[in-house]
Amino acid sequence: MSFVETVREAGILGAGGAGFPAHVKYRRRADIIIINGAECEPLSSKDETILRNRAADIVLGAAALRDELGAEEVVLAVKETRARELAALYGGVKVHPLAETYPAGDEALLVYDVSGRRVPAAGVPPDVGVVVSNAETVLNVARATRGKRAETTWLAVAGAVAEPFVAEAPLGATASFLLEEAGGATAPDYVVFDGGPMMGEEIDAEQYGVKLTTGVIMVLPKGHPVVVRARLPLQHVRTVAGSACTQCRDCTELCPRYLLGYDVTPHLSMRRFFTWGEEAEPSFFANAAGCTGCGLCELYACPMAISPRRVQNHLRGRLRDAEKAEGLGQVHADRPGRNVPASRLKKRIDVAAYDRPAPSRNLRTEPRCVIINVTQPYAPTPTILVKEGDRVDVGQKIAAPGAGDDFGVPVYASVAGRVATADAKRVVIDRTQAA
Ligand code: SF4
Ligand code: SF4
Repeated sequence: MSFVETVREAGILGAGGAGFPAHVKYRRRADIIIINGAECEPLSSKDETILRNRAADIVLGAAALRDELGAEEVVLAVKETRARELAALYGGVKVHPLAETYPAGDEALLVYDVSGRRVPAAGVPPDVGVVVSNAETVLNVARATRGKRAETTWLAVAGAVAEPFVAEAPLGATASFLLEEAGGATAPDYVVFDGGPMMGEEIDAEQYGVKLTTGVIMVLPKGHPVVVRARLPLQHVRTVAGSACTQCRDCTELCPRYLLGYDVTPHLSMRRFFTWGEEAEPSFFANAAGCTGCGLCELYACPMAISPRRVQNHLRGRLRDAEKAEGLGQVHADRPGRNVPASRLKKRIDVAAYDRPAPSRNLRTEPRCVIINVTQPYAPTPTILVKEGDRVDVGQKIAAPGAGDDFGVPVYASVAGRVATADAKRVVIDRTQAA
């Protein structure tokens, strides 16, 4: 089996958040491989934990990638405060220190900061000879070369919880189970997110099983400003944009993608969306295509507390590939001075009090059941291989890519038990009926 097939068969999706299938990324040659350890989302510390505790495996995974992709250089990109310590663990790997700013982990920013190359507006890093993989993805590649499958995910449980921690959890462990592991929430009314305060999404903790892309399960009090903002209906955002957006451009002038020369102009999106709404041709909003949803415009830049990110996300979802902006302007001369320090961001969004150490540990108990998501961001129609009542073992394949699907990867059972339900979206396995 080729290296690319081995990675695919192991069920590896990029663990950095977008869930891009790793085997597709590794089909092309590259001269630089960047291990992305930037971990910029506030309250997340799982990459830091993996980088410290799994250095030997990550070096092994990076070496396999270097050999397969024909790369000349492997670079570990980490925040400058961790660079010296990690350099001692990663002999033979160049460590690139990144400023303590948000969002340092965006692939386009990372490629530029490490190599000086810019990813084309409608392109991907391999277009400029660079492959970027999250630290956990590289760890999973190392495991795949030893025949192991992606049945677990590393994550932090953070925010308003009694005992924050970082652990390796079976895929599909519910957020409510993990919350119990963290000693419960410290707020009487709380909301749970998959992801951090900048890019996370609210979830139903009882019904949500963690995925390969889950990096942090975050809990915040119901009245927290991040929660309030995230819950605003889009129609409300549009109405407020019409009455309160002053077209000051702050959202655009602080947008990391705009500062790197991409045609991302949230202030224009706000004006156009307010004026034209859903009636405009999607191509009218091509300036939203390069938005990464980092949230800076919304939670940091806008003086009127409006939500340009929400509008950008919505507009981006309407664009077809052919409608995406292709131009790439100059890097903004003021870019270094406009990068947002992570410490200032935490204070601005009011999460500094939750920025507590999250020790690495094993889970104390095992989940009673797992809810395994079988759809993937780039492969939404898998073939389900099990049915209700089936008994499954750990590592058994429970879903496979649909016919003709080049992007999907197989999904494996993370616990032994009986299948409680199996449909086109998820497989629920009851571990209490394992025997
Ligand atoms: S920062 Fe706020 S007020 Fe200013 S242009 Fe952007 S959305 Fe409008
Ligand atoms: S969320 Fe806002 S700041 Fe971030 S990339 Fe999109 S437009 Fe730019």
